[in-house]
Amino acid sequence: GPGLSAEDTRVKVRVPAKVNLSLRLAPRDDDGYHPVSTVFQAVSLFDEVVAERRTGGLVDVFMHGGQADRVSDDTTNLAVRAALLLRAERGDPELGVHLDITKAIPVAGGMAGGSADAAASLLACSVLWDLDTTPDDLHELASRLGSDVPFALLGGTAIGHGRGEQLVPALTRGSYQWVLAVAPEGLSTPSVFAHFDAQLARGAVSPMPSAGAEPPRELLNALSGGDAESVAAHLGNDLQEAACELYPPLRRTLDIGTQAGALAAIVSGSGPTCAFLCANQADARNVEAVLLGLDQVLEVHRVSGPVPGAQLVS
Ligand code: ATP
Repeated sequence: GPGLSAEDTRVKVRVPAKVNLSLRLAPRDDDGYHPVSTVFQAVSLFDEVVAERRTGGLVDVFMHGGQADRVSDDTTNLAVRAALLLRAERGDPELGVHLDITKAIPVAGGMAGGSADAAASLLACSVLWDLDTTPDDLHELASRLGSDVPFALLGGTAIGHGRGEQLVPALTRGSYQWVLAVAPEGLSTPSVFAHFDAQLARGAVSPMPSAGAEPPRELLNALSGGDAESVAAHLGNDLQEAACELYPPLRRTLDIGTQAGALAAIVSGSGPTCAFLCANQADARNVEAVLLGLDQVLEVHRVSGPVPGAQLVS
């Protein structure tokens, strides 16, 4: 657009990982999706996306850091898909971007890392290309890219319905200390859902009673009161059993972190990352030290939440 300065050719966005404090699932609907009732919290583990203007419609990505080598760098990369979707919406094939992504969020870890990169790419490209994109536009594009992408834009703590894309901010007080234990291998989200379906079919787990059901009232009350102990008591994940059956060492990880002093332990989303809620930073450091000694733990992060969603940084 007019008046672009040199700085406008490069935009940097920071975007957080998420944990699900509660994840309840109904059986698949006619479209094959599980209606969810969830409470997301964005935590201070961030991917960084730098978007640089390119001419002639070139769109590409370079991934580095963390587990970047596990992610494709072609048009199946969610950050690339986000840029292409935004460009297609604007109908200008000349718009180009080089995305440089520094990955800290574990890949296929149940922390919505791919969704985070997609959200960051949407925000970065809409600024880089000087598009008049409203927050509602971004939300709508995000929900087309994946059910966890809108939350990566919003951040904080939020209740999610539908496929997770219908969001309402949750009232929260204070800050929560988490320890995240990343497993050496990822779990594919579709395989965990398929396993959950099999468990439902044989009655080994019970589904959410009705689509659109509210998250546990006790959890929401605990969050608004800033009561970490009560939050811990009401964490829950319908996919936890499926993730543990597919990757049995998770059970030990959860037990050991709890014995080391966490208030509670939970598998994050579809796993295999385990999230330990701690009463304070000293406890979190103890839990971290113990988890670091386990073979089934690749890396450990001490983080806090809630943090904001995707944000421009200078
Ligand atoms: P969720 O918590 O939403 O279920 P996840 O955290 O388990 O997702 P992701 O890291 O988001 O899993 O990635 C899932 C798959 O998506 C990966 O195996 C990877 O091949 C693919 N993918 C595509 N683009 C990206 C990206 N930019 N970052 C990470 N994964 C990506």
